[in-house]
Order: sequence, then C-alpha cells, then structure tokens
Amino acid sequence: MADLIRYYSTNRNVPPATLAEALLQGQAADRGLFLPERFPQLTADELGSLAGQPYRDVAFAVLRPYAAGVFDDATLRALCDDAYDYDVPLEHVTGRRHLLRLDRGPTASFKDFAARMMARWMSVLMRQRGGELVILTATSGDTGSAVAHAYCGVERVRVVVLFPPAEVSDRQRKQMTTIGGNVTTIAVDGQFDDCQAMVKQAFADPALACIRLSSANSINIGRLLPQSVYYVYVYVNLAQLGGRDARPTHIGEPVVMCVPSGNFGDMMGAIIARRMGIPIDCIVIATNANDEVPNYLRTGQYRKISPSRVCISNAMNVGHPSNLARLVDVYGGWMDETGLVRQPADLERMRRDLYAVSIADDETRATIKDAYQRYGVILEPHGAVGWAGLEHFLNDRPESADHLAVCVETAHPAKFPEEIQATIGVSPEVPPSLAGLEQRRETYERMPARYEPFRDWLLARFAQS
Ligand SMILES: *Cc1c(COP(=O)(O)O)cnc(C)c1O
Repeated sequence: MADLIRYYSTNRNVPPATLAEALLQGQAADRGLFLPERFPQLTADELGSLAGQPYRDVAFAVLRPYAAGVFDDATLRALCDDAYDYDVPLEHVTGRRHLLRLDRGPTASFKDFAARMMARWMSVLMRQRGGELVILTATSGDTGSAVAHAYCGVERVRVVVLFPPAEVSDRQRKQMTTIGGNVTTIAVDGQFDDCQAMVKQAFADPALACIRLSSANSINIGRLLPQSVYYVYVYVNLAQLGGRDARPTHIGEPVVMCVPSGNFGDMMGAIIARRMGIPIDCIVIATNANDEVPNYLRTGQYRKISPSRVCISNAMNVGHPSNLARLVDVYGGWMDETGLVRQPADLERMRRDLYAVSIADDETRATIKDAYQRYGVILEPHGAVGWAGLEHFLNDRPESADHLAVCVETAHPAKFPEEIQATIGVSPEVPPSLAGLEQRRETYERMPARYEPFRDWLLARFAQS
C-alpha cells in the first residue's frame, strides 16, 4: 500500500487526501486544489505496447496507478469500457501537423472525456458510502451538457446546472434541458459570472451544511486525470498515421501539443502526460482575447481580466483560469485561491516548456477559412484558436517547422453552425449525438440572479430533515 498516490492541496494547509476524498470534496478544505503527490512513469516499452490499443485500454493503463487503493482493477476496467465507447479520430492535416478530434462523445465536446469518468467514479463511491451528493455546476455551455449527460441516472447523485440563457446557444441549452431525471437546470436571469457567484456562495454557506455539495468543474481532480489519457493515446498512435508527406514516427520522438485553453484543465492534462513520460517538448497554450496567461508568461506579472472578454470561442471566455494555481504549483510557485502569487514560479522553465499566445476573433475566423481552403479541414472557433496558436509557434521557431505536432479540436463544428456557415459557407454535418435535439421536450427552472432564492430552493429541494 506504500506506493498509493495521495493528493495534496496547492495551499498545503490540509493533510493529503485519497482519490476518493479528493473527488467527493472537489476543492480542498483550505480552498486549494488537489494534485497527485507523484506522477507514475510510463516506460518506452509500456508506451510501445499501448500503440494500436483501443482508447479504453489506454485509459485503464494511464489511470490505474492514480486510482489504486480506491478502485480495484476490475472496477476501473469496467468503468473505462463503459465510458469510452466512441471514436477518437486523429487527422493528418499537412506536413507533420495533426488534429486530434475530441468531439465524438455524447455532447460533442472534449469535456465528455472527463465528465464521464468522474461521474462513474463518484457513482461507485456513493454506492459504497450511502447518502446523497448534490453537484452544483455553473456553465457557459459545454460543461453543463457534458456533466448533465454524464451524471444522468447516476444513483445517489443529483445535479443542478445554472446557466445564463442569453449566453448559450439554442443547441447548447437543449443539450442540458432535455435530460431531466436527477438533473435540474436553472436559467438564471443574468450572466455567467452571476451563475458562478451563486454556486461559489452556496459552497461557502453554513446554512447549507445539511446538504452534501460537490463540484464538477475543473477544480475537481477527477476532471484532470482523465484528460491526460488522450495525450498518451495520440502520442502512441502517431506512428500509425499515413498522410502524403507525413514521415513515420517512433516512441521517444518529441512532439508539440497545442491546446486551446480557457480554464486550463485541458492543458493540465497535457502537463500530467508530460510528467508521466510523454516527450512533449513544448505545450502551445492558445487563448482567445482573454490573454492573462500569455501576459503572465511574458511579463512575470499575473493580472486577471474582469469581466472576461466575450469571444466567439465562448467556452474559453475566462479572465481568471481556475487551474492556474495548479500550473504555478507544478513549476515550484504558490498561487492562492484569490489569484495572488505568494511565491513565484520558475518562469524560465515555464517559458521553455510552454508557449502561450492569444488569438483574437478576426484571426480565429481567418484560420477557419484558411484551414478549409488549404486543407479541406473544418475547424470550429475553439479548435481554430488552437490551430492559429500552433502556426504562430511554428513561424516563431523556424527550426521547428518540421516538428511533429498535434492540435486538439475540442468541440464539434456542428455546435457552432451559424459561425461556420457565415465564415466558409458550409453547414457542418450534424453528428448523431446532436441529432433529434429539436424534438425533445425541455424543462428548466428560472431564477433571478440573486443568492437567497437559490439557497431557499436548494434547502426546500435537498435538505434532509
Ligand atoms: C471548456 C472548453 C475549452 C477550454 O478548456 P479548459 O480546460 O477550460 O481550458 C475549449 N474548448 C471547448 C469547446 C470547451 O468546451
């Protein structure tokens, strides 16, 4: 049992937790974020043996050491088989540049990968422990639907999703409001920031101590660990990809991974994969006009953006990424829960490992157009921010022009039909996961953007007398 992985808080004011505790608590009691005490190593032999294996088998191999002592092998294997029953296509685009499409899950964004595993983990834990868990989530679109879908029908877990009706697309709303059962959606008469503030206040409210609350946002370590899997998966499978001018690759060859980023949970997945031994020699972090992290890397001074800037890549409209404290921590610094850097990170090493760039909407649109005209590839706004970021990196470092590179596409283009239609005159084919939404019946509650009515509603609904 000595080699079980435990999870420490970035504020280091609570003892390390087991994975079970970290999952159920979400945020640590000292308001820090959980990180694993060590990163198990994947040897070249192990990586070689994972090449060509189904995604679910790679997930099992990567997650096994993190889950040891909490989920036995048979349980974890069954959960991986059940969660990952969809495709993970890797496309060759040009030269040695590739696109990893993470949009084939049931809600057509990469958030399915993590939400599905986290929901299954929590489901097992709640069956063992009894009682009832209430998960509160504020969403600007994709998180709400991925979480609602992943937790739908999970016993002993109820989910409450708060969303700002004016900021989510029709399709995004219908993906949340047509589920029902143990999932309740609330349209808050306000903005995303209001939804988030209401959820935060609920977590801190002693009057709600009688309800067991948890979070499914990417502050939960359960959202990050599963997001390391696809970086391992794509790396071991790169060699198998053809393409006219793509040369074969071998295990050990360095790769550039490009991640369109908002709250930096996806990027933390790449950091974890790198720490486990995937030779990622640079992670390209592409943000939209919310450029607080590119500025931080450039100047060494961190300043959040409030309110966050509205861009067409709406899932990345984040002015203070919740996972930044984790990034600062793995580079030897300390950022507290308010965003204050209490101890500086090793900026030199960060700048060597990471390349951060901000892409404005006009360049995002130009990239959608360019990728379609030159390569016949349809990107949606988030993936286009990523692709543009990769091009900046490759132009900036001519010696890297022939470097093996992967950009992740985080959503399906059919989630943004108006934008794609307006930019390239094509309407993206609707995947089965999004088909039939129009006909389903919507149910949701409405609430003003004030905390008290929300608290009373939670008490009336969930408090055990
Ligand atoms: C959430 C989301 C992102 C940003 O991911 P983070 O982990 O928050 O950085 C990017 N693209 C899409 C489509 C998303 O839904």
